[in-house]
Amino acid sequence: MLSSDATHNSSQSKIQKSQRILVVEDEELIREMIVLALHEEGYAVTAVPDGSIALTVIHDPATKSEDLPFDLVILDIMLPQINGLDLCRLLRYQGHRVPILILSAKGSETDRVLGLEVGADDYLTKPFSTRELVARCRALFRRHHLNYAVSEPPMLQFGEISLYPQQCRVLVREKEVNLAPKEFRLFELFMNSPRRVWSREQLLDKIWGIDFVGDSKTVDVHIRWLREKLEKDPSSPEYIITVRGFGYRLG
Ligand code: CA
Repeated sequence: MLSSDATHNSSQSKIQKSQRILVVEDEELIREMIVLALHEEGYAVTAVPDGSIALTVIHDPATKSEDLPFDLVILDIMLPQINGLDLCRLLRYQGHRVPILILSAKGSETDRVLGLEVGADDYLTKPFSTRELVARCRALFRRHHLNYAVSEPPMLQFGEISLYPQQCRVLVREKEVNLAPKEFRLFELFMNSPRRVWSREQLLDKIWGIDFVGDSKTVDVHIRWLREKLEKDPSSPEYIITVRGFGYRLG
């Protein structure tokens, strides 16, 4: 692993200095070329040769789980262990919004589309010039800043429960609770409209979709699971309340 903090470069702006970039590339020459070019721009760069090492630096236990220790990730597609597309998909699944630039030797449309579909922000085909790479990184930082600096959805809070919509995380009394995707979406709906009463049919439509084949017991089962995870005493819930004859409400 190659790691460097580019604080020595006094000619760079303060914004650039604080930007940390993770480079995941197995081809040593390309990796070093990228690292050099980014260092020259004053970025702090960590470079790793494969996807599984990338995961260990990303999930550094010294860092709080909601903070990715990087401001931008450059991912080669063809990598040993975990490939770039899977890594990209995983980061998005975990709720990380960090800008991701995909690199690939393949220039086919399918590859590009696939990269963007798994949540990458931009795509660069090899061979590329380091000037172009640096320009793309700058553009991504700019775009990311514009998109998220102002429009980050707020954390939703109700009682002792906090929900972070972008990160798909829920904390109960400061402790992380693991919710399955359907449970999360169901609870997010409640958190967005506290005390609103939802019928089972409304919840089925909203969360499972109108094409869902099954009955409203599905909702009851998910409510039971949510209560088991969120309530101090699931048999006498304080948060997800049953409204007899109507459905459920939060609070
Ligand atoms: Ca490669």
